This record gives sequence, C-alpha cells and structure tokens, in this order.
Amino acid sequence: MRDAARVRERALFVAARVPNELELQARWFAGEFGREFVSVTGDKIDIVQFGTWNREAGPDFRDAAIRINGSAPVAGCIELDVLDRNWETHGHATNDAFEQTVLHVFVEKSEREFFTHTKSNRNVPQVRINPAELPDAFSANIPLAKPGRCQAPLKDLPEDRVNSVLDAAANFRLRQKAARLRRKIDNHGADETLFQEIAGALGYKQNKLPFTLVAQRLSLKYLREHPNESDAFLFGIAGFLEAPDLAVYGRSTREYVRDLWDKWWPHRAEMQRLILPTNVWKITSTRPMNHPQRRLAALSILARQWPAFRRSLGQHNVKAIRNFLGSIEHPFWNTHYTLLAEPASAEMALIGESRIVEILANVIFPFWLNEDVDLTNDYAKLPARLTNRRVETGATRLFGDDPRRKGFLKTVAHQQGLLQIYEDFCLQDNSDCAQCPFPEQMQKWTAS
Ligand code: SF4
Repeated sequence: MRDAARVRERALFVAARVPNELELQARWFAGEFGREFVSVTGDKIDIVQFGTWNREAGPDFRDAAIRINGSAPVAGCIELDVLDRNWETHGHATNDAFEQTVLHVFVEKSEREFFTHTKSNRNVPQVRINPAELPDAFSANIPLAKPGRCQAPLKDLPEDRVNSVLDAAANFRLRQKAARLRRKIDNHGADETLFQEIAGALGYKQNKLPFTLVAQRLSLKYLREHPNESDAFLFGIAGFLEAPDLAVYGRSTREYVRDLWDKWWPHRAEMQRLILPTNVWKITSTRPMNHPQRRLAALSILARQWPAFRRSLGQHNVKAIRNFLGSIEHPFWNTHYTLLAEPASAEMALIGESRIVEILANVIFPFWLNEDVDLTNDYAKLPARLTNRRVETGATRLFGDDPRRKGFLKTVAHQQGLLQIYEDFCLQDNSDCAQCPFPEQMQKWTAS
C-alpha cells in the first residue's frame, strides 16, 4: 500500500485570475472570443466588423457591424462590460452617446432578469462571453515544479524518441498558432494583425497587454499616415508623455522630448480616451535594455519601414527577417535606456536576437504556415535563447534530473513542444498525475 500511495499536493491558495476589463476588451477586439454568438434571448449574432477603438465619449468600439439571425449587417457601436448590469449602473441607458450601440457584451450575469435599452428605448442585444474558454488564459491550476509520473517512462525512452515526441507537440502548437493568426487576419487583415502581434511580442510577457492595446488603438494604417508623428503618438497613447516639466529630463533627452511634446499636444485632447493608465505597465522587473520605451521606438520605426518589412517577410527566409529586425535603428533610442536615464556609452540594438527569435516563433512562422510555405526544418533549427518559468516547471515535471534535459530544450521548437504537453496534460490534471494519460502513452512508445 505504501508503494502505491500518493500524497495529493496542491497549492494552498488557488484563485482563478480575474481578467480586467481592459484585457477583455483587447482580446474581444482581437477576435479571441470568436465572431459567432447566441444572444441571451437566443438570437444568432455574427460580428461582421469589430470596428475601431472609440476615441470619443460612448461605447468602447465604433464603426462595428453585426448581423442578427442572418439579417443585413447593422452598423453601430459595441460596448463591453464585465457585469451586465453596468449598462444601467454606468448610466448608458440614459446617455445619448450610447444611442448607436448595436451590441452589449458582458461576462457576468446578474441574478435578476435584465434588458439593455438605449435612451430612445431601443433594445440592444446582449452577448455573454466566457473568459475561461480562452485557449491559454485564465487557468487556476498551477502545477508544482516537481517530478511527475511521466518521468519514469520518459527516462526509458531513447533520445530520438523523446525528440520526436517534442517535435510532434511543437508542430501541433505551430499549427494552432497559425490557425489563431488566420482568424485574426480574417478580422483585421494581414498587415494590422502582423503589426498587433509583433507589438505584443515586443512587450514580452509582462507588457504584452499594453503593447497590444497601443497597436490596436493606433493602427498601422494611422501611423503610416503620420510617419513624422509616429514616435509622439505611440509615446502619448502609452501614457509616457504626461510629465509637463522638461527640467526632469537630462540635457541629451530634452530636445527629443520637446519634439515629442510639440507633436503630441495638438492631438492629446482628441486621443485622451485612448491613453493607457499608468498601472497597466510593468516596468520594475524589466531589464533596462528591454524597457518598453525602447520597444515602442522599435515599433514606431517598424511602422515607418513597413513595406521593407513586408518585402523581407515575402522572402520566406529566417535570415532576411533577422537582418531586417536586427538592423532597426533610432537616432535617440540607439543610446538611451529610458526617457529619464542618462545616455549609454555605446549603441545598443533596439530588437535583440532573443526577441527576434520569439517574433519568428510566435508570429512569422505561423504567418508563413498560413501561406502554405513549408519551413518545418528552419523552424526546428531555431536555437532557444531564453527559458521561462513555465518551460522550467514543465522540464522539471517531465525530465527531472535526467542528464539529457538540457539537450532536449536547446531549440525553440522543443521548448514549444514541452509547453504544449505542459498545457495539454499538466494544466488539465487535477489528480497529482494519478489520472493523467500521458505516462501510459509514453509507456506504449517505449514498448513499441
Ligand atoms: S500531469 Fe501528466 S504530463 Fe504532467 S507531470 Fe504529471 S504525468 Fe507528466
């Protein structure tokens, strides 16, 4: 009995992460909740257009369009709230600015029956979304970094077999990423989608949300129409141009900041609603070279040089992408860490090699796959430059102190494969490995 006994270890305090409204809105706009819904009264609702982030008073998105029960598209605005009753408690029902709303999206339903109507008493269809259905997201299950039950069969599996398990999982994950990208492209077009996804990747994990929001709110199209103001608009919307006192900046920075301000202030009032709140940024754990302000500058240059980027993408060649992204330069940001820091003594790359690899793995390869270009070998060869907590936890659970562990995770593809197994099995497991089918699958591989 003692041999077979298991101790069920669970984290003491596990709480589901509650996404804030801003994140829900960003993911709604990206189309992550899909575009086909059933309203609370049973009508079929199709999103024809997600519209644009609203700069003015009123609902969150304007110039959207929906189809109700297959009817002709109805144009108007979309409002997203966490609670359905916010429509009433926030006064939307009596506010003229909400008159054009065609859809109210919410997460939590009230106890009482609730109807959404505008000031003129027009009923607004309501759709409920469920964040728990998002692919990655809001899991409350946090697996512990300790060896799992699958470690024994994996240890007995020859190296080439383990590699092929990781390859298969990596290819599956790549296809999933490509499918997600395809859906976003259907919603926003290839260029805007690529721009938003690269922005998200430039934000790293900590600042993915603010970067995605900045790119959604200041579209690539808009930035390309205002190439001389792109730095100013990006820094303004990001909320980095709020300090009115030039004296806080060092001498070498003052001229650059003055230029940003001169270009931003005439537009500030009209864009006020789109400025990100300061607390959305996570700055403290960021290395100076990776500071969001440097990444925003890179995004600005990318927007300005978009046709050249698209040409490098069209070559279907890792080297061309590396050369393009690696050579992005900015006269100010080549030698500055932040607006407030003293200049560095030497020039620094705006997008370093590890970030380029992340962009390749998460955006470029999935994009190429959608173009039916088979670059599986190039993908398999991408060297892993970074690791992260999830990869390390997964590696500890699957490989423990197996001396081959490091070798298994030398490539991005294998890290991605490991993450897929971690998400598909470890994150789904509530039995401390006891009920997980993965070890038995591995045992079959060993026996065959
Ligand atoms: S949950 Fe499954 S895959 Fe994860 S460590 Fe346990 S046995 Fe392995």
